Amino acid sequence: MQLIFERSKKGRHLSLFPACDVPAFELDAPKRAEAPKLPEISENELDRHYTELAKHAQGMNDGFYPLGSCTMKHNPKVNEQAAALEGFTMAHPLQSEADSQGSLEVLKKATDILCEITGMDNMTLQPAAGAHGEFTGLLLIKAYHKARGDEKRTKIIVPDSAHGTNPASATMSGYDVISVESGADGCVDLEKLRAVVGEDTAGLMLTNPNTVGIFDKNILEITNIIHEAGGLCYYDGANLNAVMGHVRPGDMGFDVIHINLHKTFSTPHGGGGPGSGPCGCKDFLAPYLPGVTVVENDGVYSYSKSEESIGDMKAFYGNFLVVVRALTYLLTVGKAGIPEASQNAVLNANYMKKKLEDIYPMAYDVTCMHEFVMSLEGMKHDIDVSALDVAKALLDRGIHPPTMYFPLIVHEALMVEPTETECKETLDHAIEAFRSIYEDAKNNPAKMHMMPMETPVKRLDEVRAARTPVVKYEFEN
Ligand SMILES: *Cc1c(COP(=O)(O)O)cnc(C)c1O
Repeated sequence: MQLIFERSKKGRHLSLFPACDVPAFELDAPKRAEAPKLPEISENELDRHYTELAKHAQGMNDGFYPLGSCTMKHNPKVNEQAAALEGFTMAHPLQSEADSQGSLEVLKKATDILCEITGMDNMTLQPAAGAHGEFTGLLLIKAYHKARGDEKRTKIIVPDSAHGTNPASATMSGYDVISVESGADGCVDLEKLRAVVGEDTAGLMLTNPNTVGIFDKNILEITNIIHEAGGLCYYDGANLNAVMGHVRPGDMGFDVIHINLHKTFSTPHGGGGPGSGPCGCKDFLAPYLPGVTVVENDGVYSYSKSEESIGDMKAFYGNFLVVVRALTYLLTVGKAGIPEASQNAVLNANYMKKKLEDIYPMAYDVTCMHEFVMSLEGMKHDIDVSALDVAKALLDRGIHPPTMYFPLIVHEALMVEPTETECKETLDHAIEAFRSIYEDAKNNPAKMHMMPMETPVKRLDEVRAARTPVVKYEFEN
């Protein structure tokens, strides 16, 4: 398809900007010598350009999207309507508290409900993503040890079944990462854990359910071991759609957590749009929370800032409109809908797993939570058809590939998360697709290396795409 620059014709335009309604202001700064070369295009042509782009992409609205760990579920449209209300979109972060009561109420209500769901006492909504929430939580742990003068604690323990962001966040926070191997059951090996905890343990980060989709059965023992050594426990709750409404990290001994509003609590994501990774904590860590929190007195909302706060993780109050979407979701599904959503997430994953396990070996033979991981190591070895080949073949059947080659502890991994918003017919269609791909692979393994055949762009040279991407349009003159 043509790029928008190729569609551009000098002099064509559409008027996007309303007339200026404030006095013009001359910037006292160097100005660019020539106008930027923006595409010039009519509204009609622009519409067609984006429609064509959308047709080239495989998104949530095109079909099943089982991208493990990412929770690509349906986001109710009413969330968008709430987030588009002018009272929210036109609010300015520097408006007075008195003028912002509605927005403050949203922040407070969302905080309260999310604390109730996670078993935490307080929360910051400032972090812009899950990994950002992890970083925030680790800084809280650091501030806590520092305030106690306990500065020998330089290590964060991270099981090898953790999400990749966990060790990255720990490193960014200035900690040394100690990796602990999982046992054959996919859970943390307690003996190996006991062997690495000590006086230098600042804390542990646990992804639960972990990246192989398993709820660690020893979770209480794990938090005990860490607490006894004087460390704190961090819960990566990005995949809370597996457990919400049934168990709470706060009741399992965790001191600090993050959750992903853009996964569990329903904001479209995956295209790089705004996210939100609130970080919740127990009371004893709350004084260190970043930014401001909102308090309510007799129906009046105001900001509260602690002197011991670690500072700001982001400007103002985080990605506010993502919080509006999350609160809308929470209030529409209600208290009964939260556990029902997680039940369906787990049911859907186990249904698919059962219907596939006779031909696709599962990495772990246990009941999974919201996702399952299969290993195509045997297929790769026997007929040279890889996880990548199967993922690409799914595209020809209108299905977005699952997460591939992750977690790293499983070879030729495909990680499938159906999510709670898919109906049985969609799951059955996907199961059929996986099964027919298996047949195709057995009958004609060489052809599998050429898939996808039906998509606008066929099999890409992945190395070249990664090493020499063309991300900038070169003008002819
Ligand atoms: C998605 C995810 C993260 C990171 O969230 P981002 O918003 O992408 O930064 C962390 N942990 C787990 C388990 C996740 O699934």
